[in-house]
Amino acid sequence: MAADCIFCKIAAGEIPAKIRYRDDEVIVFDDLNPQAPHHFLIVPHKHIRTTLDLTTADNDLIGHIYQVAGKMAHDLGFAEDGFRVVNNCNEGGGQAVWHLHFHLLGGRDMLWPPG
Ligand code: AMP
Ligand code: ZN
Repeated sequence: MAADCIFCKIAAGEIPAKIRYRDDEVIVFDDLNPQAPHHFLIVPHKHIRTTLDLTTADNDLIGHIYQVAGKMAHDLGFAEDGFRVVNNCNEGGGQAVWHLHFHLLGGRDMLWPPG
């Protein structure tokens, strides 16, 4: 756990969030500022700052995150209509929280290219 990291604090139960799923590797909760009818954040327990800090030791974790994304989309009924998984990296990529996370967005048609 990193000091002053809001996602570490959510995972530790120190900051409230609407938790949707939790296992040994990840926690999934509602985004505070949803951009779609379904908008969840899939967050590893491990404090990894950005995508650029991933190592080969994290390969299984990333695979697991995509498995969780697909399962949640399926279980909540928006998999077939379509959904998006987004990771923002660094400021120019739109990253605002410095603990690796993946947005799972669904429930509406997505636009391309993204903003
Ligand atoms: P990013 O811009 O990719 O770093 O995304 C950060 C996301 O975290 C944004 O969509 C915020 O709305 C969301 N967020 C920030 N603080 C919280 C919080 N306390 N609980 C839930 N979502 C949050
Ligand atoms: Zn953290």
